[in-house]
Amino acid sequence: MSEKGILFVLTGPSGVGKGTVLKEVRAHKPLFYSISATTRAPRAGEQDGVHYHFMARETFRQLAEQGGFLEHAEFSGNCYGTPAAPVDEELQAGRDVLLEIEVQGAMQVKDIRPEAVRIFLAPPSFEELERRLIGRGTEEPEVIQRRLDTAKHELTLAPEFDYIVINNTVEQAVSDVLAIMQAEACRSSRV
Ligand code: 5GP
Repeated sequence: MSEKGILFVLTGPSGVGKGTVLKEVRAHKPLFYSISATTRAPRAGEQDGVHYHFMARETFRQLAEQGGFLEHAEFSGNCYGTPAAPVDEELQAGRDVLLEIEVQGAMQVKDIRPEAVRIFLAPPSFEELERRLIGRGTEEPEVIQRRLDTAKHELTLAPEFDYIVINNTVEQAVSDVLAIMQAEACRSSRV
């Protein structure tokens, strides 16, 4: 048996349903949940240390400089980063980790952790992504527009990833992600 856990990365454009898919995958499989750091302001109902570690830009910058993040990126005017230590502790203990991060950060992971398995969650169409992002109702119209502009570029990067899962229905996407995880666990290099 491999001693280290497998690092899985789930990425895709904002509004594609990464959070929903992650929640369902975790309901089927015990996985470590990494709490990211962000400079974004909390949304209604979001708690510090639960949904994110909310912090000032300067604190974020210092942590990044000290090498505290496994990856970090600026997205839609805010910084987001994965604290490295908790993830590495889990992997060392032989437990799998699934990170839910935006596309730039997921691209970095390829260089930093080439052994990571990176999954790109794609919408059935750009129009459907637009509908979902507007329907979510968590962002102002100009933020939605900025995220859609970013999404157009992000979708062109999908072929760079190990797997592309189309989020047509949550059930199918979850089943695909679980199948990928199972297959990766069975790869000869991992056992
Ligand atoms: P939101 O502001 O909607 O919570 O998140 C915006 C984007 O940042 C989402 O695509 C989310 O997956 C991504 N994100 C959350 N945490 C991290 C992180 O630690 N690193 C990176 N690169 N992206 C993150």
